[in-house]
Amino acid sequence: MIPSYDPHDSEYGLKLLEDLTTNAYEVQQKVLEEILAKNAQTDYLKSFLNGHYDKKLFKQKVPVVNYEDVKPYIERIANGEPSEIISAQTITELLTSSGTSGGQPKMMPSTAEDLERKTFFYNLLVPVMNKYVDGLDQGKGMYLLFIKPEISTPSGLVARPVLTSYYKSSNFRNRPFNRFNVYTSPDETILCSDSKQSMYCQLLCGLVQRDQVLRVGAVFASAFLRAIKFLEDHWKELCSNIRSGQVSDWITEPSCRNAVSLILEKPNPDLADLVEHEFATKSWEGIIKKLWPITKYIEVIVTGSMAQYIPTLEFYSGGLPLISTMYASSECYFGINFKPLSKPHDVAYTLLPNMAYFEFLPVERNHEEVVLCNGVSDQNCVLKEDETEKLETVDLVDVKLGHYYELVVTTFTGLYRYRVGDILMVTGFYNNAPQFRFVHRRNVVLSIDTDKTNEEDLLNAVTQAKLLLEPLGFLLIEYTSYADTSSIPGHYVLFWELKVKGNNDLEELIDPSIMEQCCSTMEESLDSVYRRCRRKDHSIGPLEIRIVKHGTFDALMDFAVSEGSSVNQYKTPRCINSEEAIKILDSRVVGRFFSKTTPFWEPFRMETK
Ligand code: AMP
Repeated sequence: MIPSYDPHDSEYGLKLLEDLTTNAYEVQQKVLEEILAKNAQTDYLKSFLNGHYDKKLFKQKVPVVNYEDVKPYIERIANGEPSEIISAQTITELLTSSGTSGGQPKMMPSTAEDLERKTFFYNLLVPVMNKYVDGLDQGKGMYLLFIKPEISTPSGLVARPVLTSYYKSSNFRNRPFNRFNVYTSPDETILCSDSKQSMYCQLLCGLVQRDQVLRVGAVFASAFLRAIKFLEDHWKELCSNIRSGQVSDWITEPSCRNAVSLILEKPNPDLADLVEHEFATKSWEGIIKKLWPITKYIEVIVTGSMAQYIPTLEFYSGGLPLISTMYASSECYFGINFKPLSKPHDVAYTLLPNMAYFEFLPVERNHEEVVLCNGVSDQNCVLKEDETEKLETVDLVDVKLGHYYELVVTTFTGLYRYRVGDILMVTGFYNNAPQFRFVHRRNVVLSIDTDKTNEEDLLNAVTQAKLLLEPLGFLLIEYTSYADTSSIPGHYVLFWELKVKGNNDLEELIDPSIMEQCCSTMEESLDSVYRRCRRKDHSIGPLEIRIVKHGTFDALMDFAVSEGSSVNQYKTPRCINSEEAIKILDSRVVGRFFSKTTPFWEPFRMETK
């Protein structure tokens, strides 16, 4: 099922993509046949299919499921039961996703073959980029990539994020062209477990080789902006290292230090002067183009929740195209953007039909709710069917132009009819394969980096925090939130409308230290990915609560009604992204408070059952 392909042969790569998309139906049928034939004897499938592997029966009998349904199986594997309960192939590791279940990361099964499939996918990105941008082989790529902590499950399986797994594999070390030093970051700097040393070293290497850099990037827009913030904080030291030819003493990780020293080589005062001049200018508008003058584009995902970073990236980029190349997840790698130079809002991903068996749950757009809804929230798309009824899916080749769907996957690694939670819209077809715009993630209301906070998590955090206020005679009567990304790193903002028992003079009565504790309590109550981003990755800033005047949420409702919401059906949105709505709230703020502590985080531990 994974075609053999020499990634250096662009022409053949493009032909493969033509074949896969032209034969989308046939490939999908084969994928399902193969998955069923191989896994028919797993406990999971046997419980529905009795050992049969008929494709029709599969759709009739095997249910469409959520993570909670497969979690018991995954936990059993983590606790040492054999892979065969869900997968005929050995599960070699678990991939921790940014979605959470009960406050802990979800874990997706992975196999040795899965790594090969991902490698095949990455390799196909190369010919697509080469088709649109000439001469990429004439220079280097500065990709800022990072690993995250991993844990061992009670049975000794490794559980870690999918990218950490890939970067630590030999497939990554042997990726196309790596042996020709086409990337500015030595592998040792990417594999450095101290994220600060890793970032510093990668930026230093990128600056030293700036004249050769034809493309820059990171996986997500948020990570790239974090690098710019890091430059703001460390540029003087970086310039001083370039001037002296010596890496700072605090870079202590030996392999990382050695790798960087080899690139730094000798004192380079001319280069130090040049970059220092750019850094020292007052405005950093267009700084990327100034620091890396021949770079042709910035490769970062700017679709989905990352779209909130487009304006800031455009400010720093100096007009460089922002390129989202792929759409993937811990469950499975899905699709490629066949027109990488298209504008961020026009980006569509073509799902590669040999990656998994794809099905689609039709969803309807609910125009009523669109007015105030954040682009990452759930409220503007609802499932067509009553969720309690049997969910009818549509096949990959049967989706309709302009329609919205939730993605469901059956993977080679032991997930069957699994709801990924992403809502996609069909924007066209490439040969016979549909192309999708990423619309939003089901349930997620707030996201800054890889965190994905849903309404329930938010409510839970608010509920914990308001307990501090209630004994003091305050009642929280309404709240909403938004992700403030106007500064780096972005942070969660909560608007709270409070009522004071028997007295209306709110401002006088609010105790800042209690409010700060409310902020901290909220942070402690959010899930482990949020807390990791806050404490370890520093990719989210301190949570803020803005207290608004009495009557503010009435004004918000008036605004929503004026924009077309019906009074009867109006519900306070738990997140907002309409600038006007934020202005309405902001103009009534009477107090702003920030968390003064960083929440507790440690790599999660799994209990042996
Ligand atoms: P994770 O499960 O932590 O690997 O995160 C995967 C999720 O990130 C996907 O299901 C999407 O919701 C989101 N995601 C990944 N790639 C993209 C993309 N290109 N555009 C928008 N969202 C994406």
